Amino acid sequence: MKEQTKQNSILLLSCCAPCSCAVIEKLAQEGTDFDVAFYNPNIRPLAEYRKRCDENKRVCELYHIPFIELEYDNERWCRLTQGLENEPERGARCSICFYMRLKRVMQYALKKGYRSVASVLGVSRYKNLAQVNRAAYQAAQETGMSYTEIEGRKGGMQERRQQLIKNLNLYAQNYCGCKPRE
Ligand code: SF4
Repeated sequence: MKEQTKQNSILLLSCCAPCSCAVIEKLAQEGTDFDVAFYNPNIRPLAEYRKRCDENKRVCELYHIPFIELEYDNERWCRLTQGLENEPERGARCSICFYMRLKRVMQYALKKGYRSVASVLGVSRYKNLAQVNRAAYQAAQETGMSYTEIEGRKGGMQERRQQLIKNLNLYAQNYCGCKPRE
């Protein structure tokens, strides 16, 4: 039954509350049918992961959006990115990291019957949006799940994001996930 109810829904992969808050607000205000998935085994240490997960859940609750936490399989993430530890942010390690997370969420979305997957992985100015999109379309091709690009940067979205971080007193970390920013 649950699968059938998701056929018009988008599953939005979120990395954290600060990157997703303005997108969640906008989609909720537009009446878009969507749920949020938190699949981020790249975040270390575990205490930091928990903090970001709980904060993202809090934002979803504010907008009455279902929040789905998937498994924290950091060992798998480490295996997949082995040998790329010294790559810079936006480098080869990030391509694998994006692809891994997007593909897992697409597989979950397929199983549950969602219409499409979207993400906020490219919202931060530290990210290369084209790199995120490349990983997303590769995962989409391999899984057969469609990918929807959602605007999270332009049209006042960055400004709104900063406002919400302040207004909601969101926990805003100073590194992406796997290691401190250099
Ligand atoms: S910097 Fe961020 S996107 Fe890149 S590999 Fe680390 S956690 Fe993943």
